[in-house]
Amino acid sequence: SSMTKEDVLQKAEELDVKFIRLQFTDILGVVKNVAITVDQLEEALEGEIMFDGSSIDGFTRIQESDMYLKPDFNTFTIFPWRPEAGGTVARLVCDVYNPNDEAFAGGPRNVLKKVLKEAEEMGYTMNVGPEPEFFLFEKTEDGRATIETHDQGGYFDLGPVDLGNDVRREIVLTLEKMGFEVEASHHEVAPGQHEIDFKYEEALRTADNIATFKFVVKSIANQYDVHATFMPKPIFGENGSGMHVHQSLFEGSENAFYDESDELGLSQTAKYYIGGLLKHAQALAAITNPTVNSYKRLVPGYEAPVYQAWSSANRSALIRIPSASGVGTRLELRNPDPTANPYLAIAVMLKAGLDGIKNEIEPPTEVVENIYDMTAEEKEELGIESLPVNINQAVQELLADEVIQDALGDHVLKHFVEAKQIEWDDYRTSVHQWELDNYLETF
Ligand code: ADP
Ligand code: MG
Ligand code: MG
Ligand code: MG
Ligand code: MG
Repeated sequence: SSMTKEDVLQKAEELDVKFIRLQFTDILGVVKNVAITVDQLEEALEGEIMFDGSSIDGFTRIQESDMYLKPDFNTFTIFPWRPEAGGTVARLVCDVYNPNDEAFAGGPRNVLKKVLKEAEEMGYTMNVGPEPEFFLFEKTEDGRATIETHDQGGYFDLGPVDLGNDVRREIVLTLEKMGFEVEASHHEVAPGQHEIDFKYEEALRTADNIATFKFVVKSIANQYDVHATFMPKPIFGENGSGMHVHQSLFEGSENAFYDESDELGLSQTAKYYIGGLLKHAQALAAITNPTVNSYKRLVPGYEAPVYQAWSSANRSALIRIPSASGVGTRLELRNPDPTANPYLAIAVMLKAGLDGIKNEIEPPTEVVENIYDMTAEEKEELGIESLPVNINQAVQELLADEVIQDALGDHVLKHFVEAKQIEWDDYRTSVHQWELDNYLETF
């Protein structure tokens, strides 16, 4: 369905909308809002709402002033959780434009659109289905986040009621009111850890959905006085939070990844796409696993991938082929985590896959054995490499990969790399609790 300007205005009136949030994300994936009243809606829909880009602080945030927001009419949604606050609030996801009416190169949504255009020129649309995980933690009486979970009792030990499950149910209901099709929702392996999967959609829509999802999870948790975090590895020794990304290319209504005659039901296109993802996996990690903490999840023993391989048989590989066929044929990239900017992450994954298709990059043979059980020699023989071990290494890989750099464009690349170098230096020069525990008394 494609909404027009008139549809949005009519819907806003029907729903008695008083305020509209014009939503976009910065390079690091932080959701930003410019709030307007319904009186300004028409102007907003014409793309005439201006904001001061330089007022958005942070080193890699948009530095330019006088930017324009152009709403995507199809993203008009009500925030169902605050109708009582004196007027219904709606939002529109926007693209950021320069005053000369050019799409702003630093806008992550524009970056994704550029790569989607490239796919379109090759005859493809991309479908993406994410599996975001997160933790729900207790807050202290003065409102600070802890890493205590209600599962283990404590502030939220309310007898037979598991508050975490209640909060998750409320999140699911809210998402459904906002038009999400939630396919699965469950408690995850670690204490306090949850997962909510929603149905795949066209890539741009899914990126919008992921940004919205994180915002909804945090808002609802907050109402229950619980802290929701998408930090990948909050607790040493427990599973971390990932965001597996299921992806497929379609040609019209046909799944271009499906080939009935293949043993695994995979087309040559799908295999080249896998070849491209594996070739660029190390550079991709900088974007799909963009924080210092991301790499504490990517270690053996916690269901997170460490090695660059693909498999239909096991979940230790970086890329898994789920058993579905036909319209459901897809591959699952397992290293991304929810700290990734969804627009940039999908853009670089697609770019890598398209590069595989263009250059007919054959993937190595599928790995059927559990990679964690292999010796170093066995892995070397099969050409199985490891993902970067930290964000610094991932950024170096990004700086060595022109294809992935091209997907991001100079503006985003420069700001992203600068931010990550600062983050890494800050981490690298800090003295951590681990060092005190191991050295303070020993030396
Ligand atoms: P897992 O077994 O890893 O838990 P699921 O079977 O739960 O994964 O699938 C998760 C995601 O895959 C969902 O978001 C679903 O909508 C999505 N999905 C299904 N078919 C496709 C497809 N053709 N392309 C992309 N994603 C798809
Ligand atoms: Mg799942
Ligand atoms: Mg599942
Ligand atoms: Mg999971
Ligand atoms: Mg999965």
